[in-house]
Amino acid sequence: MRLTIGWLYPTKMNIYGDRGNVISLVQRARWRGVEAEIREVGIGDRIPGEVDIFFFGGGQDQEQIAVAADLTGDKGAWLKSAVEDGAGLLSVCGGYQLLGHEYRPHVGERLPGIGLFDLTSVAGPERFIGNVVAESEWGELVGFENHSGLTHLAAGQAPMGRVKVGRGNNGKDGTEGARYKNAIGCYLHGSLLPKNPAVTDWLLSAALERRYGRADLAPLDDTLETAARSSAQARAVATR
Ligand code: GLN
Repeated sequence: MRLTIGWLYPTKMNIYGDRGNVISLVQRARWRGVEAEIREVGIGDRIPGEVDIFFFGGGQDQEQIAVAADLTGDKGAWLKSAVEDGAGLLSVCGGYQLLGHEYRPHVGERLPGIGLFDLTSVAGPERFIGNVVAESEWGELVGFENHSGLTHLAAGQAPMGRVKVGRGNNGKDGTEGARYKNAIGCYLHGSLLPKNPAVTDWLLSAALERRYGRADLAPLDDTLETAARSSAQARAVATR
């Protein structure tokens, strides 16, 4: 069995350890004997048809300008149709914001999003920086946030979770991220997946199920992952 990971804008949207998510997807697939190939998709590149799981990292406002322009039109529509068809996707912070309807940075024009998630984001007066613990369908997730964007989900748009520690989407309604089909959006850098292997395995299982009609992922020894997670959880609660 083999999976293709589509890494969107690796040179522009890759901060606070985001590349660790791609490494985690590939390694946890390989540990189960599943071949995993990374296809990088940059500005002006076509999105390959065979991608099973997309990763879209974060980036500063400056980087988001070029990426938003590149996603406008066919490319964004293509990405949306892949998710509609069941492709997996993990997006973080700046990437997550551009999968909504728009992001309004502090300076400059509004940046159109592709409208995969029913939400909008606008740069707020304060930067949310710190450790996060969020309740989710995968249990408690731990991560790190660093954003000025405030994200508001439209009625009916499911969040990815609810913050226990940290500010999340907007520091007010307690929501964190967004969910749609096999797509996840969140503000969790760190990177997210190495310390939250349940999410990695969920993305891998959904992708194998879609491509091969079955997803028997053998359990792994997650002693290190669990230790890293518990220490991050303790630190988050201590610095709340
Ligand atoms: N530029 C966006 C913001 O400030 C995203 C930042 C990020 O990806 N960490 O909200």
